[in-house]
Amino acid sequence: MITYTDPHYRTFTNLRLSLTDACNLNCVYCTLGNEDETMADHRPQQPASFFIDLIAKLQQQLKLESIRLTGGEPLLYRHLPQLIQGLQQLNIQDIKMTSNGFLLERQAQVLKLAGLAAINISLDAMDEGVFLEITKRKNLKRVLAGIDAALQCGLSVKLNAVIIKGINENQILPLLNFAFEKNIPIRFLEIMAMGHLYHNTHNHFFSQQQILNTIATQYQFEPIARKSSATANYWRTNEGHVFGIIANETTPFCHDCNRLRLDAKGNIYGCLSNNNPIFIDSNLPQYALAQKIQAAMQQKQVHKFAGSELSMLQIGG
Ligand code: SAM
Repeated sequence: MITYTDPHYRTFTNLRLSLTDACNLNCVYCTLGNEDETMADHRPQQPASFFIDLIAKLQQQLKLESIRLTGGEPLLYRHLPQLIQGLQQLNIQDIKMTSNGFLLERQAQVLKLAGLAAINISLDAMDEGVFLEITKRKNLKRVLAGIDAALQCGLSVKLNAVIIKGINENQILPLLNFAFEKNIPIRFLEIMAMGHLYHNTHNHFFSQQQILNTIATQYQFEPIARKSSATANYWRTNEGHVFGIIANETTPFCHDCNRLRLDAKGNIYGCLSNNNPIFIDSNLPQYALAQKIQAAMQQKQVHKFAGSELSMLQIGG
C-alpha cells in the first residue's frame, strides 16, 4: 500500500461520499431556496455497486477508516442498506451519515440494522417559521420525529446548525436547550463561502465569538481540548453539557484535515475549496489512480478554506 501524505503530514483516512445532489429541502445558504436545483424525484441514481466498486478501488491504496454518507440528501438514495452492507465488507466499520432528517423516522431502524453507526442531523431552527424561512419547507415536526427515531434505535446522534445573521441567530439558545434536554451534542456552524455565497458571506456571517457571546447569556462554559482532525471546537457547560462550533472562517482546521470527497459522478476532491473534479473509475490501473489521489492531496489548503463556486449540494457536504 502506498502512503499518501503531503508536506504537512496529512493523509486521507476519512471519505465523504455524496450519494446524490438531489435534496428535499431548499436551504437558502445552499440553493437560494431554488427548487429547480434540488428536485429529487426524477433524477437517476447510481446503483450501490457503483460506489462500492470505486471505494474498493480507493481502498487498495488508502486505508479509509470511516465513511460519511452525504449529499444532497442521502436519505433520498434508494439503495442505502445494500450500500452500507457493501461498505462494511470492505472493512470500513465506521459508517456515518449527515442528513436533514426529513425522511429519517421511517428509515432509522433499517439503517441501524444495516450497520449505520451514527448520524449528524442538520437542524437550523426550533421555530417552525424560521425553519420554513431557511429550508422553504414546512413540517419541522418530521425532523424532530426523525431525531427521536434515531435515538430510539440506538444510533449515535449529533445536531448541526448553520447560523445565518439576521435569520436564525435567535435560534441558538432554543436549539442548544433542545439538544441539552435530549442529551445530544450540538455543533453550530459559521456560514461558508460556497455556491452563491462565494465572495458574498459578509451580510450573513455570524462568527464563533458571536455564537459564544450568545450562549454566555445563559450558560457558563469551559473549552475542551480539540481532537486531531476534528472539524469542531468544543466546550462543556458548568452543568456538564457539551456543544461545539465549526468555525471554518475564524478558526480554520485545514492543517490536519484527513478528508477525501467522492461525488455521485465518480469525481474525487481533496478539499471543499477546490472546484476541479478529478474523475476516477474502477478500471483505472493502480499507477493512474495513485496519480489522481496525489492530485487530490495537492488540492488541500494549507491555512484556511478559500471558498468555492460549487455549493455544498454539488460537492457533498
Ligand atoms: N442534506 C444533508 C443535510 O442537510 O445534512 C447533507 C448535505 S448538507 C449540504 C451538509 C451540511 O452542509 C448541512 O449541515 C448544511 O447545513 C451544511 N451547509 C450547506 N451549505 C453550507 C454553507 N454555505 N455554509 C455552512 N454550512 C453549509
